[in-house]
Amino acid sequence: MGRFQGSTVLISGGARGQGAVEARLIVAEGGCVLLTDILDAEGEALAAELGPAARFLHHDVTEEAGWARAVSAAEALGPLRGLVNNAGIYIPKTLMETDAALFERHTRINQLGCFLGMQAVVPAMERAGHGSIVNISSTAGLRGSPGAIAYSATKWALRGMTKAAAIDLAPRGIRVNSVHPGPIDTEMLKIRTPEENAVRTRLVPMQRNGTAEEVAKLVLFLLSEDSSYMTGAELAIDGGASL
Ligand code: NAP
Repeated sequence: MGRFQGSTVLISGGARGQGAVEARLIVAEGGCVLLTDILDAEGEALAAELGPAARFLHHDVTEEAGWARAVSAAEALGPLRGLVNNAGIYIPKTLMETDAALFERHTRINQLGCFLGMQAVVPAMERAGHGSIVNISSTAGLRGSPGAIAYSATKWALRGMTKAAAIDLAPRGIRVNSVHPGPIDTEMLKIRTPEENAVRTRLVPMQRNGTAEEVAKLVLFLLSEDSSYMTGAELAIDGGASL
């Protein structure tokens, strides 16, 4: 019997990248997944590949009403016991290059989206008996990240929001932890040139980028009962990049 048998996990921004790998591993371990994203074609294709244990729903994480629809769709698959606040954007600009609109766009998607998601799943997780929320931050939420002030602001915010929510939700049987990936080979890094990426990789003590599979295994650990006494923790998965 898999660790996720009889449980549903909602993954935002799950059409591709890290979220998609997490969905595959959860279904392989007997669970159901409700995938949401704004990338409809990729999301529908992934849900079709995963079969009846998965469903895709178009949802922009900044839309509050859409969160209620996502939670209902997740509960239709089974008791909602996991949320991965994974959706995010990374448009790196320095302090002097960043305008208010770009700053606010990061805040709305990366930070407000996470807040709305945590709030939306609480009643469903209480109905399910317990729950685990994993907020995907970054090493940019553990130290200064060059040329990405708006992204950094939101990823530091997720770290603090995780700890505040962990305290608020512990009495309700819901754990909240943050994951801080270093450079992970997904589409997100393609916004930087190969040369820029090579420079960043050389700064990683392990001298390589991580894979979506490596992050997904950590996320599944935090979602599962294997981490039953962990809440409010911040876990770096970065080849030593934040040291
Ligand atoms: P990814 O493939 O770009 O996945 C992020 C997904 O979120 C994309 O499908 C993206 O769609 C979607 N998204 C963007 N805005 C959204 C919105 N408003 N509502 C719903 N979905 C939205 O990159 P990834 O590496 O898997 O990223 C997953 C998480 O890891 C993100 O939170 C990211 O910040 C974090 N992270 C990544 C790295 C890395 O090196 N890759 C490092 C540290 C942390 P669009 O493409 O249309 O925007």
